[in-house]
Amino acid sequence: MDFGGSIAKSHEFGVFGCLAPACVKIAVMQELETFKLIERISSLLRSEERRKYAAIGLQPVHGQVLEYLAKCNKYSNTHAAVAEYLGLTKGTVSQTIQILERKHYLEKATDSLDGRVVHLTLTEAGARLIDELKPLDIFKQAETKVSRQEFDTIGQALQTTLGVLQKVNHSKSFGLCRSCRYFSVEENHYLCGLTEQPLDREDTDKICRDHAPEPTPFIDQE
Ligand code: SF4
Repeated sequence: MDFGGSIAKSHEFGVFGCLAPACVKIAVMQELETFKLIERISSLLRSEERRKYAAIGLQPVHGQVLEYLAKCNKYSNTHAAVAEYLGLTKGTVSQTIQILERKHYLEKATDSLDGRVVHLTLTEAGARLIDELKPLDIFKQAETKVSRQEFDTIGQALQTTLGVLQKVNHSKSFGLCRSCRYFSVEENHYLCGLTEQPLDREDTDKICRDHAPEPTPFIDQE
């Protein structure tokens, strides 16, 4: 993925370049769109993660703790560090670790120099679980498709990434009505080609559960 052009472009036209009110407004709207796209990509990945962990009787937080412990060093594998890294309360971390210990995915060991410190390490079963579950399959598939493309803006790259993730996850796009392949303007009014009903002006700026994105050759090819 090439984000270089997009960063240069946002500086050129955004808050760092043109300071005219109209330019600033456009830049702010673009930034908001970017955040919305990131939010949608994250929620899609979160729901995929929930589905996967539920299938083995765990919650995503269990996977996040194991994943953290798989990559942190020997000074950082403590309850406090897990809580700090994941932004969790000590109580939640404690409960999560108890469950993971009970399921034999991690084990505790007291520090050899300071008896007050407890280190957490993955068992073989825990390490195997992480290998099996991460990265999420849909993310791997999306990465393969997106990595060879070049994009002019971050928004375009994110929109395409979202499209690919939705395609491989068989999830609905929930896109803006105006960007739907069924949307059209007929004799000065807006029309939904799916329901064959006229659309109000305000509906065209809303998202729809029946939205169908325009075909994108490299997304749609198998
Ligand atoms: S299917 Fe939904 S998004 Fe597509 S044109 Fe009709 S109302 Fe709009």
